[in-house]
Amino acid sequence: MVQPTAYIPTSEFSVIAAELAATAKALHARGWLLGTSGNLSAVVQRDPFLLAMSPSGVDKGELSAEQILLVDADARVVDARSKPSDETLLHLEIVKQRQAGAVLHTHSVWNTILSDLFADGGGLTIEGYEMLKGLAGVKTHEHREWLPIIENSQHMPALATTISAVLTQHPNTHGFLLRKHGMYSWGANLREARRHIEILEFLIETVGRTLELDRSRL
Ligand SMILES: [Zn+2]
Repeated sequence: MVQPTAYIPTSEFSVIAAELAATAKALHARGWLLGTSGNLSAVVQRDPFLLAMSPSGVDKGELSAEQILLVDADARVVDARSKPSDETLLHLEIVKQRQAGAVLHTHSVWNTILSDLFADGGGLTIEGYEMLKGLAGVKTHEHREWLPIIENSQHMPALATTISAVLTQHPNTHGFLLRKHGMYSWGANLREARRHIEILEFLIETVGRTLELDRSRL
């Protein structure tokens, strides 16, 4: 194994890398990171800025701590072992905009379906559910969560610019959807980001299944 660069607190990076690998396994087991889909990151240090990031093209069910990469604020791999995820730029934008400590991106069946179903309205409203209280800062089920939906693109710099504008426009959202692609959520640390992903995946599936039941009754 190639060690991270000398000025990195190696033990801290190793701990974060192990936590990211364990998170990938857990989310894969839920069916939210099948194949090589999705990606994960966590801030290692802010000055100079370093992000632990999942690599490109690795099956998330088999991702090991040794495969986690370190990237800088410009999405360059610090120790150049392999290529980071194409979506690293999006993670960096979210970290910058939200001062996030970790960012998670899932490709679940339900977030993919709803990201298309509600795309024409520009987003999806989730309100009235007790589970909303699992989102940071939400104190009551009467909360109204707006999940913006952004058109998918393979051009990451342009997509990062769009995401920046959407996050500025919606300062209270805990996540967003990319159309026919997946969901992004984040948190002050990896634990909170994982909680947000679980809560939002639960709520999205609940909305989807409710619509399905309503339609089957017609
Ligand atoms: Zn993706």
